[in-house]
Amino acid sequence: ARWGLSLAGEYTSAARRDPHRTAIIDDAGSLTFAQVDLRTNRLARDLARFGTPRIGLLCRNHRGAIETMIAASKIGADVVLLNTGLSAGQMRTVLEQQKVDVLVADEEFAPVLDGVDLPRYLAWSDDGLGDLERICSDGTADPLSPPARPGRTIILTSGTTGAPKGARRPAAHSLAPVAAMLSKIPLKVGDTVLIAAPVFHTWGFGGLQFSTALRATLVLRRKFEPAAVNKLLAEHACTALWVVPVMLQRLLDHGDVPRLPSLRVVAASGSPLPGDLATEFMDAYGDVLYNLYGSTEASWVAVAQPADLRAAPGTAGRPPLGTRLAILTGDGAATPPGETGHIFVANDMLFDGYTHGDSKEIRDGMLRTGDVGHLDAEGRLFVDGREDDMIISGGENVYPREVEDLLSRLDAVLECCVAGVADPEWGQRLAAWVVLHPGAELDADAVRAHVREHLARFSVPRDVVFLDVLPRNATGKVLIRELPR
Ligand code: ATP
Repeated sequence: ARWGLSLAGEYTSAARRDPHRTAIIDDAGSLTFAQVDLRTNRLARDLARFGTPRIGLLCRNHRGAIETMIAASKIGADVVLLNTGLSAGQMRTVLEQQKVDVLVADEEFAPVLDGVDLPRYLAWSDDGLGDLERICSDGTADPLSPPARPGRTIILTSGTTGAPKGARRPAAHSLAPVAAMLSKIPLKVGDTVLIAAPVFHTWGFGGLQFSTALRATLVLRRKFEPAAVNKLLAEHACTALWVVPVMLQRLLDHGDVPRLPSLRVVAASGSPLPGDLATEFMDAYGDVLYNLYGSTEASWVAVAQPADLRAAPGTAGRPPLGTRLAILTGDGAATPPGETGHIFVANDMLFDGYTHGDSKEIRDGMLRTGDVGHLDAEGRLFVDGREDDMIISGGENVYPREVEDLLSRLDAVLECCVAGVADPEWGQRLAAWVVLHPGAELDADAVRAHVREHLARFSVPRDVVFLDVLPRNATGKVLIRELPR
């Protein structure tokens, strides 16, 4: 047998070693590892009616999503994780491009699948659990013989910079990446992990893989609600919470922090973690926050531990064991500390290429992440923004992230987004969209004056728009295209 990591392999062996331990707790109740093993044998048998289908999964976080991935892994079927935020048009394109044969979808996403003519399993209906529950609960549960080749997981990028791209994750990982992460994040075998980040996204999926390797109990909720998350953390004595940064803000806005003596790790990733938010969160929940920087293509690149976040609140930390990080100029020279350049990374978790079209630059075995950043004198990484976000205003390079960080430090500002908009005279000019704390007051001139005081003239946003809320995707990234001009 190969020493590797596959959902089927891990869950089968967990069922042997820890049959009675709880594997999944979700809105419908809880399941042990033994139950999940038998249930996914049944589902695997049912899916095998289609041969080795390519399965499109369009689900929120619940047993159905996890069990489909395990069952697919048992028959060597590929799973395409579909982003629940796609429009009907994007969905049709993605299903066709990814050659999906069978769909597993929640009822609430039926409108997006309108007119799609594919066999479909109902994963979760609004008044019951749907087809999957019926299939998983009944019939012969004898194991199937292992597949000739392991299935792959295809994760879609967020589509922040264009159409979502399908990124192939390597099939069976060695345990090295898990070991590397464990050197940075104190998770243990048998932990209880609440995954609030969507599992169809690279970050939530990473949490699932990580938890699987540790035979952790997964706690899943279909929707993120701060009160319910606090309650689950306390009720199940969760040791870890997996989130995207905007969820931290929502937990803080909700207030009412429960006493959570068991909580050791709150792992955030998927979009930038503002330094102030990190500090405020740790003041409320304790020094348990980890900021992970990564992408669908690069997997985990760097981790900031609580002590790093206390010392340098906006940092993404340092690369884990086995990961090489470099900040290079356009000519490929390493930049000195403090100077912004292109972030390159090498590790043994890099993706296996896009399913079609595009590619990413590889230089000396290192992947160009598409992000720009710098190291401080201590070697801590700061992600300054994305290459595509950089705007050139009157010939000067401006990184919107720098302006966002500055604005977030104003007491009146709850959250904000800065981006370039077309300008007939300057090519591009800077615009800021600002959400204020309830009851707080601030006007556009005060915003501009604050930036003028700290940054160069060309970094001052010319347009300042006040909004009630920023439009965001499931991983908390602001949808710049949807901001009012
Ligand atoms: P697309 O490639 O379709 O535009 P995307 O790059 O947003 O989508 P993802 O792989 O979901 O797709 O997101 C990865 C990106 O998210 C990173 O390249 C980085 O810009 C940002 N990111 C993720 N985690 C962090 C973090 N902790 N700090 C700063 N930025 C982060």
